[in-house]
Amino acid sequence: MQVIEFDKGKCIECYACVRVCPVKAIAVPINENYPHILHNRCVGCGDCLPVCSPNALSFKNSIDRVKGLLASGEKVAAILAPSIAGEFTDITDYRKFVSMIRELGFQYVNEVSFGADLVAHEYKELLENFKGKYYITSLCPTLTAYVCYFYPELTVNLAPIVTPMIATARVVKQKYGPEVGVVYIGPCISAKYEPVLLEEENPIDEILTFIELRKMFKEAGITEQTLEYSEFDSPIGHLGSLFPISNGLLQAVGLDENLLTGTITTIEGKDNFIDSVRQFHDYTELIRRHFNIFYCHGCLMGPGTSPGGEKYLRRSLAVEYANKRLKEFDSQSWQENIEKYKTITLSRSFNPDDQRLQSPPKEKIDEVLKVIGRVDADKLMGCGACGFSSCYEFATAVASGLAKPEMCITYNLRNQNEYIKTLKATNEKLAKTEIALKESEKIARREQMLAREANEIVNIMLQKLPSGVVIVDENLKIIQANKTFIETLGEDARLIDEVIPGLVGADLKTLLPYHFYNMFSYVLKNAEDITNRDVNFNDNILNVSIFTIRPNKIVGAVVRDLKMPEVRREQIINRINEAITENLEMVQKIGFLLGEGASKTERMLNSIISAYQSENGNKSGETKS
Ligand code: SF4
Ligand code: SF4
Repeated sequence: MQVIEFDKGKCIECYACVRVCPVKAIAVPINENYPHILHNRCVGCGDCLPVCSPNALSFKNSIDRVKGLLASGEKVAAILAPSIAGEFTDITDYRKFVSMIRELGFQYVNEVSFGADLVAHEYKELLENFKGKYYITSLCPTLTAYVCYFYPELTVNLAPIVTPMIATARVVKQKYGPEVGVVYIGPCISAKYEPVLLEEENPIDEILTFIELRKMFKEAGITEQTLEYSEFDSPIGHLGSLFPISNGLLQAVGLDENLLTGTITTIEGKDNFIDSVRQFHDYTELIRRHFNIFYCHGCLMGPGTSPGGEKYLRRSLAVEYANKRLKEFDSQSWQENIEKYKTITLSRSFNPDDQRLQSPPKEKIDEVLKVIGRVDADKLMGCGACGFSSCYEFATAVASGLAKPEMCITYNLRNQNEYIKTLKATNEKLAKTEIALKESEKIARREQMLAREANEIVNIMLQKLPSGVVIVDENLKIIQANKTFIETLGEDARLIDEVIPGLVGADLKTLLPYHFYNMFSYVLKNAEDITNRDVNFNDNILNVSIFTIRPNKIVGAVVRDLKMPEVRREQIINRINEAITENLEMVQKIGFLLGEGASKTERMLNSIISAYQSENGNKSGETKS
């Protein structure tokens, strides 16, 4: 029954609708958050509508189609349910109400109470002359849908009689011709789907609820103040006007509900609805009564009426209205009309449409019970907060894909507690990490400071060295150079140093000739140091040693000008030392051949070195003083 529409954009995923739906026609598939209306299970009771606070659910709107019908140029009849008396209490006289309907563009306005009179007589026939087969009245479309979907074997027990709505529509068609449009105006939303389920010809074009009718009046600015009285078109109804009260139709034809002598029991209200059908199913032969079942507390309280209606107030207003109509009742003309229309078809049939769910395997249900922590749950027990009568029923729905564990409050609370615990532990860890982080920040700052200080010291020391020092990266860009190195390079380098202190970032290739900087490239490439190599540069001879600092990334060089006296002296000593070492063997051989001991030659050379050292030492001592 596709009477409920769902607007996903408005849904806040509260699942209130899932909880109230009496037939579980709203499912929340396990991997989704939004509810799904299972239209083939929906019985149109309307219970999900008032609980949906953001109005994500609504019933099928017929206003536009009715407007289209009225604008089509065809004649259209409005057939009005007698429960108008309980709804439109703000309209002082029913005749003003009829005028307002005509003002909307309806050519004819008829009472459904006449159709109710016809139907009531059919019921009298059926129920008084039954032959041991008990019936359930088929006056409530929610009830008939429920039986067809969930007790398909009972469809044969549904009274095979049309509703007063269908009966009245057939009367109107017979009176005004088959081309006349018929719009039923009533309190029920499941009635909107009733004609679709009808196996026989459907005489209804559209169905408006009282709520929709109010909207149409408001949109069109129609009020009773500007209108005169207008009567219903004939045929006028009689006691059928009591139909909105659950046992009103039975009373209309004197069907006996007396506990001792009667054969009929009336059941109304959703609290008794499901159980009454079950009991009829299980114990018909023991109960031995016909059931007159309504989902609502009479049609006066249908979901198409304004919310907040008071049952007993509406009942007394309906009775008052019936009494008022009785005062003006023209028995003769009513009788004539009953005769006139008694040939219209009032019988109908019902098709079973089994929508019962196959029970999932027990292991699957047990698995869900385990997940929600209710393994030992009694099959009939449960808090009911999920909308299911027991934990077992809820687990069955989850296992069937109609619900998800998050709808169980206990499961949620447990998860929430675990989440809080995890959150607390994470917070504690975070706090500890924060302290550790602050500590390491402090250490890093201190280390940074020490590194800076060390760097400054190294820098100062570097600048004080008498030899030139340069450090370059893999692209031969200068990382650091001291003053001596800059002085060695000459005037251009001195000028650059003024702008970029230490020549930081300068390209060595632009400062040194190819044969010189190529030595740096060599060391960078091969990570093989070059020591004490003499290099010609600007008419000077430089003693160069290049060494790896970080393999293939950074190299450093010590450059000494051989013209500098201290370098020269050191160099001579080194060279003589080298000569002694390299040529010792040869000198020994020569000495041996000359008949002199090698040690004598060595002593001789050493004495030359010492003499040279002491002479130069004195000289430098003299210079310093
Ligand atoms: S009651 Fe409304 S808002 Fe809540 S889940 Fe159902 S449709 Fe969504
Ligand atoms: S109208 Fe009734 S049966 Fe249909 S979804 Fe809503 S609550 Fe369920």
